[in-house]
Amino acid sequence: MTESIATPRTTEVAVIGSGVVGLSCAFHLREQRRDVLMIDPHGFGKQTSHGNAGSISTGDVLPQSTPGVLLTGLKMLFDADAPLKLDFGAWSSWLGWVMRFVYNGGSSRVLPFINAMHAINDASRASWIELSEAIDARELIAETGWLHVYSEEASFEKGEWERQLMRERGVSHQVLDARQLRDLEPGIGEMFRHAVFQDQALAMRDPGQFCKRLGDALLARGAHALRANVAQVLPGKGQYRIVTDQGTVHADKVVLAAGVWTNRLLRDLKVKVPVIPARGYHLMYPDQPGLVHRPTLWAERYMVLSPMLPGIRMTSIKELTAIGRDPDYRYIQRRDADARRLFPALAGQPVAEWAGYRPCTPDSLPIIDRVGDHDVYVATGHGHFGLTQAPTTGKLIVQMMSGSAPLIPLEPYRLSRF
Ligand SMILES: Cc1cc2nc3c(=O)[nH]c(=O)nc-3n(C[C@H](O)[C@H](O)[C@H](O)COP(=O)(O)OP(=O)(O)OC[C@H]3O[C@@H](n4cnc5c(N)ncnc54)[C@H](O)[C@@H]3O)c2cc1C
Repeated sequence: MTESIATPRTTEVAVIGSGVVGLSCAFHLREQRRDVLMIDPHGFGKQTSHGNAGSISTGDVLPQSTPGVLLTGLKMLFDADAPLKLDFGAWSSWLGWVMRFVYNGGSSRVLPFINAMHAINDASRASWIELSEAIDARELIAETGWLHVYSEEASFEKGEWERQLMRERGVSHQVLDARQLRDLEPGIGEMFRHAVFQDQALAMRDPGQFCKRLGDALLARGAHALRANVAQVLPGKGQYRIVTDQGTVHADKVVLAAGVWTNRLLRDLKVKVPVIPARGYHLMYPDQPGLVHRPTLWAERYMVLSPMLPGIRMTSIKELTAIGRDPDYRYIQRRDADARRLFPALAGQPVAEWAGYRPCTPDSLPIIDRVGDHDVYVATGHGHFGLTQAPTTGKLIVQMMSGSAPLIPLEPYRLSRF
């Protein structure tokens, strides 16, 4: 991210947050030739958008909360190997949220969330191809599909509900037996006998590099960037005053895409969104060509092994916490043995570890909306699917701003649902 003394302090649209969501909004705004200033203290894609599993999961239909989630969650809390962790020192951050989360998973309530999850994920394959081609970064998006593997017969059978939902919505997928799975991924562990392969899903080869390329492409197309931490967004006469640690910026319109930090920026507009941080972790292993060919999810462990340009990335853990609490890297270090059960030929020791916050809503759907009569737009709460949904979110924000017909119905993503 570059900035100079010439970085303008007055702009038509200020986009606060340069993760994959903010950058995608900025891209579609620039496509409309709007004057755009991107503001972020860390540069392009340095937070959650850098460390994810890289699956552009266009075929996934399930929210995180589904019927039976309470029992499953309680069992996980007594299993040290389970991916769910609660940071009890931060209980006031997540307790109310968890109650709404469990409620939303009820069998009589969950269907609209499934439909909305499908709508945005399904639209995102075309959005990703369009975006990556437009900035000449198509080689970072691989057509490898998304593989879910099962170690237990019972959970594979339970997954029939999800497969039925995918069939009903026309999601392309194949159910693989042990032999077919090995044809696709010869290095998979012996214990995996069933799999579901979503062949139309895409894989990001390097999420951090993609954000950097997208930010640089935006600068080349005339957008501006300011490295600054925004303290306040204040409504004014016809313009918004954005108070930062590098001085004040004036903008006609503001897009708030600051991931889990978005609530702080909504304070002066008297709005609060139920977005909490669900921390995830990754370990990076040295590159091993041919070991794993696509993001591969071990369904029972909620662990993904992904081949990326910088090496092999293992992601896991959903830790409900609060902003600013220290990560506990032992959670992901303990998953090293499982990574080697998933792909037994995985060699070498981890070379890096990372933790980042998924911005999660209690219905697992993003918030894509305008704040009342303000010229302030919110794009956050993408949770486990922010990489997948970012370019479609950018399109929807711009369509909302310009009053044109939305690509998909906007109601499920509105603020008013809370
Ligand atoms: C372990 C893990 C694995 C994942 N795997 C996948 C996956 O395979 N597929 C998928 O689709 N999704 C995945 N996700 C989710 C996805 O990464 C996130 O949903 C997505 O990155 C959120 O993007 P964002 O732009 O909203 O947030 P962020 O990337 O966190 O960006 C927010 C930005 O706002 C900036 N900011 C914050 N406060 C301020 C302020 N006051 N002023 C200015 N700027 C500010 C921050 O510096 C940051 O750059 C995963 C997440 C994790 C943690």
